[in-house]
Amino acid sequence: QAKAQGRNTLCFFDPAMQAAASARSALEGDIRQGLARNEFLLHYQPVVDATGHLLGAEALVRWQHPQRGMVSPADFIPLAEQTGLILPLGRQVLAMACRQLAQWATAPATAVWTLAVNVSAQEFRQPDFVEQVLTALRDAAANPRLLKLELTESLLLHDVEDSILKMQALRTLGVGFSLDDFGTGYSSLSYLKRLPLDQLKIDQSFVRDVLTDPNDATIACTIITLARSLGLDVVAEGVETEGQRAFLLRNGCRQFQGYLFGRPGPAELL
Ligand code: C2E
Ligand code: MG
Ligand code: MG
Ligand code: MG
Repeated sequence: QAKAQGRNTLCFFDPAMQAAASARSALEGDIRQGLARNEFLLHYQPVVDATGHLLGAEALVRWQHPQRGMVSPADFIPLAEQTGLILPLGRQVLAMACRQLAQWATAPATAVWTLAVNVSAQEFRQPDFVEQVLTALRDAAANPRLLKLELTESLLLHDVEDSILKMQALRTLGVGFSLDDFGTGYSSLSYLKRLPLDQLKIDQSFVRDVLTDPNDATIACTIITLARSLGLDVVAEGVETEGQRAFLLRNGCRQFQGYLFGRPGPAELL
């Protein structure tokens, strides 16, 4: 009986699982094809200062799918990570971002804008990640000082020594680093001090209810204070209302991103 039960728990031919598995492999093939056909593109969301002045943008990948229309990253990044397709996708993203920076450099009004690019754990862990970033910058003739890479806590803490070495190598050329979704991971303050970061991004989950949930307000204020005392910039993500902006500003936050200032969209709309 135990044996039979044990066998049942394997469930290899469970129809629902099989359907999910074949949906996954169809999507994998689709992503592969999308990469070959250049169906991935970047949308740009403004990052503004205390006066609402544009400082730059964050690049957010989108998939212009021939049948499904514009697909958001939540629907393909997880599978791209599981299948390793995030590596060629990440290279395309970096190349497009660097080309955009080079284009902004051609007009005085946009030449100082910074561009933040999200990097996934697998991409960052590649032994030649630093090389890949340099190649993208060089190929586009983009200014490294205007490129910011957004990393997460779990990515950095996976191998702190390796993270520090890669960050230092890129920082030497002027590339900046931002800690994305700060407060949602395994924040380790002793590591935070050692990592050569430029910026912390307050996760939008703390910003959403910052006016109504005292715990979120405390967390947001603590992150702002922490960033400032470590000499880091701090950006609030997911700012949707003037009330949220005013609260964060009053408590020392000087950079903002969110629907209040603009949704992600084509570069021409920035
Ligand atoms: P993220 O880096 O934390 O990006 C912020 C997300 O919040 C974006 O979702 C953005 O559209 C959304 N957002 C911005 N302002 C607001 C707001 O005021 N309210 C609300 N409710 N949401 C807001 P998106 O574009 O769907 O991206 C989701 C995540 O996918 C990103 O989170 C990032 O982790 C990942 N991602 C996006 N592009 C890339 C990429 O090129 N490479 C990699 N590896 N990951 C990416
Ligand atoms: Mg981000
Ligand atoms: Mg974020
Ligand atoms: Mg996120």
